[in-house]
Amino acid sequence: MQGKAAAKEIVELIVPAYNEEGCVELFYEEVKKLFAQELTAYDHRILYVDDGSSDGTLGKLKELSEKDEEHVRYISFSRNMGKEAAIYAGLKNSVGDYVAVMDADLQHPPAMLKDMLKALNEEGYDSCGARREDRKGEGALKRFFSVLYYRIVNRMTVVELTPGSTDFRLMKRQMVDAVLKLSERERFTKGLFAWVGFKTKWLPYHNVERVAGKSKWSIRGLFHYASSGLLAFARAPLRFAVWLGALGLAAAAVFAVVMLAWGIGGSYPVEAVHFVILLLLLFGGMTVLLLGLSGEYLARILSEVKQRPIYLIRESNIEGVE
Ligand code: UDP
Ligand code: MG
Repeated sequence: MQGKAAAKEIVELIVPAYNEEGCVELFYEEVKKLFAQELTAYDHRILYVDDGSSDGTLGKLKELSEKDEEHVRYISFSRNMGKEAAIYAGLKNSVGDYVAVMDADLQHPPAMLKDMLKALNEEGYDSCGARREDRKGEGALKRFFSVLYYRIVNRMTVVELTPGSTDFRLMKRQMVDAVLKLSERERFTKGLFAWVGFKTKWLPYHNVERVAGKSKWSIRGLFHYASSGLLAFARAPLRFAVWLGALGLAAAAVFAVVMLAWGIGGSYPVEAVHFVILLLLLFGGMTVLLLGLSGEYLARILSEVKQRPIYLIRESNIEGVE
């Protein structure tokens, strides 16, 4: 081995940070210790993305990057753009052979990187994510909605989300590049990671409390996050109208037959109001059905507009395969 830094593969950590002045330095120290003591075979980089913090986060990041120029870089947003945007900016500017996305609050234990690297290097996986086994320290309400949410998403969308999966994930360069090919604006990273495929291993771990500060999620923020996940991957909400319309038309048909039977059999007097009901069902059903059809076109337009790649290649024996 010549020049030891040049020969080592780089593990890069992307760390979105929003008002994490109490955390970023602790995170840095933990990572330093890990790479100095246990992951000595790898070189490391930390890329902090300051998501428009209003506290002293940016100042702390500047300090860290001046102290350790070779390993610490930062990007600072003009305002709070959201964690998804921060992850995207981080991935886009990443240079590592391996890239991990991690929270700044040490809720994603850096020590797990050891097993994650093993999964990628020895077990043939392209990515390795952390899956929470329990949700200790989280409210019952949050837990309930989380379980419900994964059920719904997995039923309604093409991607399969692993329950309890976190954003903490180590990936090979190839997978990072694949995720970056998905250039849509509304980014639901968890879904995008699932969408690109590749082989992912899930490592269970126990929830840890954040080291400092408070959780940045509000109910409103979580709701937005959840709905953007559904809307980005599900066509079912648009398709619902088609079914509702068809149901209305079917009801109209049944009602027409019933009216006919009443009229012919004379078992029940057919009155004007029955015709009104029939017309309501007929036109109501037609209207909703047509709305649903426009919805189908909308879904198609949405999918074209997103410009997701039509396929992604994992390997091939063709040189310069496209
Ligand atoms: N975060 C961010 N932008 C936001 C909200 C959160 O970059 O608008 C970061 C935050 O600094 C942390 C990570 O996303 O590093 C996870 O946030 P948090 O710990 O508040 O979420 P929780 O762990 O409670 O789900
Ligand atoms: Mg946290």
